[in-house]
Amino acid sequence: MRVVIVGGGPGGYEAALVAADLGAEVTIVNDEGLGGHCVLWDCVPSKTLLTSAQAFNTLETAPSLGVHFEGMPGQEVPRYEVDLPTIMRRVRDLALAQSEDISKRVLAAGVRVVLGRGRVVGPNTVEVRPSGDGGGREVERLEGDAILLATGSDPRRMDTAPTDGEVILSSKDVYKLREVPEHLVVVGAGATGAEYATAFLRFGARVTFVVSRDRILPTQDEDAAMVIEDVFERRGLETVKNARAAEVERVGDRGVVHLEDGRKIEGSHVLLTIGQVPQTNGLGLEEMGVQTNERGALVVDGVSRTTVPSIYAAGDVTAKLMLASVAAMQGRIAMWHLLGQAVAPLRWDAVAATIFTDPQIATVGLSEQRAAETGIEVEVDTLPLAGNSRAKMSNRPDGFVKLLARPGSGTIAGGAVVASYASDLIAPISEACYNRLTASQLSQAFQIYPSFAGSIQECARRLAVRVQGSYRY
Ligand SMILES: Cc1cc2nc3c(=O)[nH]c(=O)nc-3n(C[C@H](O)[C@H](O)[C@H](O)COP(=O)(O)OP(=O)(O)OC[C@H]3O[C@@H](n4cnc5c(N)ncnc54)[C@H](O)[C@@H]3O)c2cc1C
Repeated sequence: MRVVIVGGGPGGYEAALVAADLGAEVTIVNDEGLGGHCVLWDCVPSKTLLTSAQAFNTLETAPSLGVHFEGMPGQEVPRYEVDLPTIMRRVRDLALAQSEDISKRVLAAGVRVVLGRGRVVGPNTVEVRPSGDGGGREVERLEGDAILLATGSDPRRMDTAPTDGEVILSSKDVYKLREVPEHLVVVGAGATGAEYATAFLRFGARVTFVVSRDRILPTQDEDAAMVIEDVFERRGLETVKNARAAEVERVGDRGVVHLEDGRKIEGSHVLLTIGQVPQTNGLGLEEMGVQTNERGALVVDGVSRTTVPSIYAAGDVTAKLMLASVAAMQGRIAMWHLLGQAVAPLRWDAVAATIFTDPQIATVGLSEQRAAETGIEVEVDTLPLAGNSRAKMSNRPDGFVKLLARPGSGTIAGGAVVASYASDLIAPISEACYNRLTASQLSQAFQIYPSFAGSIQECARRLAVRVQGSYRY
């Protein structure tokens, strides 16, 4: 089997590794370093930036733990200096190193990597135009028994809000900043906006969050969003709610957001985080009869097949759930299916995700809101972290553990964790959700004392008693 993969992000390179493992001859066509936007612009850079911001947790809590900094005993938050050029250099170096590591893994697996832009010119043919100057290479035609499209997404743009990379920024432009903005206006209340707001607030910027609804993170667990709103408020973030941006303009060296209701918000910089658009431009899909939906995303079935049998698609270009882990799983499933492995459709009811605010919000499976909207019956238990001994020791009491179980069986249907390292703490709940364990089973597994994870066990135990009447199997 020959497989041609267009796009080298997690949807593409994880699929390539699986296909190569299974003996296929694999070529990846990618127009930048392997790892794609995920590694070079989105997940890795933003989380590296946020790691620098996390250093403030230590600074902030140190005095209350009895550790004072020279010359400033008792001060709540010690004086600090943010060296943004160093932070941004680290972000860039780390992203490039990660991309390099992925390239090594993929090449070692025997995959051919072609630098250029791919276009589908037949159900089994991809034409590649060399990127940049192309090093004198000709347009190349690649034949495959199957093609996988994993071309990702790009930041959504507004005609009335042209980004200039200096004052009016997209998420990709953030890394050009060399000084902490004096006043950053973030437009868009989703995960990306909340993460950048977290980082720049910690770096000392004045941050205003412009959100079109009556709360931030409107698609997230409401209790979790409330914790973050509360923390943001304590740290001085201003939120302008029910505010829809109509236009953003640059006036001199400042940015002005004009709201639909006539209000104006001015800042030294404006960051647009208004969503992502599937990247299908120039792929030649219409000619090929590959169906797209109203969002411009490729329509796929449970095993990542498009409407053309030899063409599969994975990742953001399918706009299912725009997450690296989902892209990777869709890509692997496509290859398992193509190469005759036993394969089951992706379990959308068990996907885990994190918003890397501070504290973080990690969720898996069914949410309380979704259960209410769809009429799925669930029992819910929520345990605030304030009572957790580890949280008290660390002076990090914000957050909670929430578990959802089906009445009768007690099967874990979903959960949410709001805590400093919620992205890691969600793991046992994710396992329980995926393997359909009961609250009782989750409560029997050992956790460390004292630990944040202890709250998961405690919450599961309370839920088991309520739903199953006991905490035996
Ligand atoms: C700021 C930000 C932070 C994020 N953080 C997280 C996070 O922490 N965790 C998480 O799970 N998700 C995160 N996401 C989402 C995540 O980045 C995406 O879901 C993920 O990158 C999707 O992977 P992909 O393989 O579909 O596409 P990408 O990673 O976008 O890779 C696609 C690649 O294909 C290339 N390409 C496009 N067209 C062509 C063509 N015609 N020919 C050749 N190459 C082409 C692109 O240039 C790109 O390199 C974040 C998103 C943003 C915007």
